[in-house]
Amino acid sequence: MLFPKPEPYAKVKAKTKRQKAQARALARTEVYTRVDGLCQRCGRRLVLHLADARSAFDIAHAHEIRKRSLGGDPTDPEQIVIVCAECHELLNTNQERVELRDGQVWFVLVPQKERIV
Ligand SMILES: [Zn+2]
Repeated sequence: MLFPKPEPYAKVKAKTKRQKAQARALARTEVYTRVDGLCQRCGRRLVLHLADARSAFDIAHAHEIRKRSLGGDPTDPEQIVIVCAECHELLNTNQERVELRDGQVWFVLVPQKERIV
């Protein structure tokens, strides 16, 4: 019995990576549209594509509310928020965190003693 030659691993890996990136981009676009292109934390007007940006701070970042290592799904529009680069920095440096309360997005200050550096 003959089996077809398997697809090279690097090719499969590249395809998977591309598909995941597309799925994340789709979720990002959906949330961006829902929030009218404004940073959900500070209200700054953002653009979705690098080519439209006047500065690096204009680009919409998708912050994943729940870490992937903790079961978060970055392709689920309910699990991402659109923020500007500055606000994303606050979230990623653990100074603030996002909480969902009754479907509303809250940006909560993390107490100093709970911050992990
Ligand atoms: Zn912002």
